[in-house]
Amino acid sequence: YGALGLDSFSRSLTLQRKAEEEIPEATSSNHRGKGSYAPYPMIYMEEGNGAELTDVDGNSYIDFHCGVSAIINGHGPEAQEEAVKRQVERGPYFATTYELEYETAKLMNELVPGSDLTKFISTGTEAVMSALRLARAYTGKEKVLKFEGMYHGHTDYALVNVHPTVENLGTGRNATKIPETAGVPGSTLEAVETVPWNDTTLLEEKLERQGDEIAAVITEAVMSNSGLLWPQDGYLEDLRRLTREHDVLLILDEVVTGFRMGLHGAQGYFDIEPDLSIFGKAMANGYPCAALTGREDVMRFLESGPDKATFMGTFSGNPLVVAAAHANLELLNSVGERGYADLYERGERLTEGFEEILTDAGHDVFIPEFAGFFCLHFTDGESDPSQWHDWRDISPHTDAATYEQFASRMVGEGIFLPPKGGRINLMHAHTDEHIDEALEAAKESISHV
Ligand code: PMP
Repeated sequence: YGALGLDSFSRSLTLQRKAEEEIPEATSSNHRGKGSYAPYPMIYMEEGNGAELTDVDGNSYIDFHCGVSAIINGHGPEAQEEAVKRQVERGPYFATTYELEYETAKLMNELVPGSDLTKFISTGTEAVMSALRLARAYTGKEKVLKFEGMYHGHTDYALVNVHPTVENLGTGRNATKIPETAGVPGSTLEAVETVPWNDTTLLEEKLERQGDEIAAVITEAVMSNSGLLWPQDGYLEDLRRLTREHDVLLILDEVVTGFRMGLHGAQGYFDIEPDLSIFGKAMANGYPCAALTGREDVMRFLESGPDKATFMGTFSGNPLVVAAAHANLELLNSVGERGYADLYERGERLTEGFEEILTDAGHDVFIPEFAGFFCLHFTDGESDPSQWHDWRDISPHTDAATYEQFASRMVGEGIFLPPKGGRINLMHAHTDEHIDEALEAAKESISHV
């Protein structure tokens, strides 16, 4: 099976069997769960260097999963390792503030157009949770609006209409609220409104009807967790205009797009002005650090006081991960626009190469425009992907099972792709040779799918 036979994973298989006895789903995050690269077992990675990974059986891979989009500067860049080691030697945590925290916030405020002030926290999930609470405190309104198909982490508020079955959704105008998981309280469902993305009319109607109850609209600038759909011309501008008209805060979730679509996030790329933004993943190149940033008058509502929103966390802004973020942001600054242009060029070569190879092999595919990452969809050929605007369009026509077969075959050729149709990412550590190798592997892999 591929260049790597099933017997090349014996140590991974042994570890998986042991872990199944100790950890539900054998892993801490279910998205890394069993069956991702069937018939291979769960892969136990041991080490990363630049763009390459090695597993416990000694198999090596070129990494295009990039830590679920968290790795942008390669695995273990020296300057970042040194910065973290320095902090390890000083000590991981003193429960006081420290100089690097201010310096890292200053870097964020310089790089992110919509950021006057920044606060650090550990995960994107927590940053979203805090942003929604802040919006409620600032506006005095209780509800939040999110879009169908958007993932904003795993709090109860965010787990509504993430990847709902389209037949159960009802109309876009009056969608059923479907929790992504058991355990979301009905009272939380009531506090969340959803509409399809990319449809100005539906958003406008919703805000006209309920704008006086809605504290914030949260969105990504591209729909990155449901196959990478791009905004229609003018949609982000409409979103900004309508939220302003209704005194609703616009929260831009940049957990995926931040420092991946470029040095200034999706807000720089599309020239939009959110009130608040969320960063995570690539901001710290693999370390658990996230940030909530935004407009001064709103962010000042995170200071202690009556009617203000609290912002807490033993590990929020922990020195180890802030040191990692600081070193990473400095590295990205030195990579600069030129480095991102190179990354984009390599990404476009990879997407165009995949498209040609898979189409030549007789498959209908949809590979959306490269944005620091892309998704690879095998489609049923019954609908024109250039007309797909939201989750309701993309979900019924994409074939996850074929992607999974392809991804497993690619892993067998030493190319580490995300499981389950996730984002295929590039990092600054990729070279032209890595792209060539991935394209060669794609030719071999697709001949078996
Ligand atoms: N927002 C988006 C757009 C994400 O993709 C994710 C994670 N995949 C999150 C928020 C949550 O971030 P975290 O996993 O760090 O909690």
